[in-house]
Amino acid sequence: MEISLLKKAYSPEEFRKRGHELIDQLVDHLSSHIHTEDNQTLDWHIPEDERTFWNNFLENGDENELFAQILKRTTSVHNPKCIGHQVTPTAPITALTAMMSGLLNNGMAIYEMGMAPSAMERIVTDLICKKIGYNSDSRGFLTSGGTLANLTALLSARKAKVANDIWNEGYQQSLGIMVSEEAHYCVDRAAKIMGLGEKGIIKIPATEDFQMNTALLENELQKAEANGIQVFVIVGSAPSTATGVYDDLTAIAKFAEKHDLWFHVDGAHGGAAIFSEKYKYTVSGIEHADSVVIDGHKMMMLPTITTALLFKDGNHSYATFSQKADYLLAQSDEEDWYNKAKRTFECTKTMMSVHWFTMLKTYGEGVFDEYVTQLYDMGKAFGKLVQKEANFELAIEPDSNIICFRYVDTNLNLNTLNEINANIRQQILEEGEFYIVQTKLRGIHYLRCTTMNPFTTEKHFRILLEKVKEKLEVLLPIKN
Ligand SMILES: *Cc1c(COP(=O)(O)O)cnc(C)c1O
Repeated sequence: MEISLLKKAYSPEEFRKRGHELIDQLVDHLSSHIHTEDNQTLDWHIPEDERTFWNNFLENGDENELFAQILKRTTSVHNPKCIGHQVTPTAPITALTAMMSGLLNNGMAIYEMGMAPSAMERIVTDLICKKIGYNSDSRGFLTSGGTLANLTALLSARKAKVANDIWNEGYQQSLGIMVSEEAHYCVDRAAKIMGLGEKGIIKIPATEDFQMNTALLENELQKAEANGIQVFVIVGSAPSTATGVYDDLTAIAKFAEKHDLWFHVDGAHGGAAIFSEKYKYTVSGIEHADSVVIDGHKMMMLPTITTALLFKDGNHSYATFSQKADYLLAQSDEEDWYNKAKRTFECTKTMMSVHWFTMLKTYGEGVFDEYVTQLYDMGKAFGKLVQKEANFELAIEPDSNIICFRYVDTNLNLNTLNEINANIRQQILEEGEFYIVQTKLRGIHYLRCTTMNPFTTEKHFRILLEKVKEKLEVLLPIKN
């Protein structure tokens, strides 16, 4: 068989040519977004139109236009007016490491398929463990996303705290987890995947300020136990996704210790505050956690998906998926930290440690301090701006870089206000200058912003508020 297509697909010279072209395009994209006022954040199309476009493109589009069209038709996370979801504008150097991972494609399941990145993974996770405040018994690994990391941590917790061998024999009892009603939905999903069922998810009501109400913990635990549920883990959010409010990790740690529960911290978004001199107080108590999740693709400038799962006692990270009796580091002369698939959910994964290591080597850990500190400063600054506006209110004063706010008017009822706020968000989305999202908290519709771009400033927030007011001028006469 003629293999001309394969020769073309693997041509080094073709790669060089397209690679250089792409780098130029990406540089132009970056420089036209990162420091400018006049570029759109996104070019909104409804899903069916987008599908039609790409269907046509596959048939008739100009191959040389492909990368340019992808650039044009995705949301620019590097635009300072992109203040929606919690995905970081990647530090450009990590786009290069992502490309390396893509081309080298070492699968990371065993040491020799990823020697450098396996060693880097140990170094990077050791550094994060130290930052958390763990001692040298700690270990961690990188995995594909906060969702998977939370599930893995809960499996480790079950292995560590439940006497029965559920891994091999299945459930012989009802188990439960305790988690705030404000926690990310993936914790709920993980518990369901683990077969705990609705009754095994003990949702702790939040305070008025959206923090887990730790005053209720004793009572909730007693109730669960009276219902025959053995609680084995409690999860704290650092912070919770919708509101950006941190749970009181110290109080949860005390409770966990008293009742011999595993304490897991979901720091997917804000665990990175361990790097911020100014904001590390937000995670105080995190050092007592048995396990911690931190997403690199949220608050650490790394490409999706790059997540660290850290264990206070490294033994547990080896036990999660072990078929036999628990693996003991202390009894093993040769800890095979370098064969990753024994501990991760995935078999194959990307070379994500290379991104983290490259950031540390190129800029040092101070870059993470600057990033988190700047974003939290800006979140709080935006909160202050909103507070100064007569017809706007915050859901809660920002604890981090997540801000939920809405238009209010005492003459309008809740339904009307919800409709107005949802309408504003839809118009802003379709216009595409800014990208913001929305959330419903206790039945109230809020506009939700997350400052993820270190070049988003108060000026951008002012322009956004003006824009919201413009929409109101059109909307209000219709509603009144
Ligand atoms: C984003 C987020 C998750 C999910 O992480 P992914 O990396 O998107 O899978 C879990 N918990 C919290 C608190 C989050 O903010």
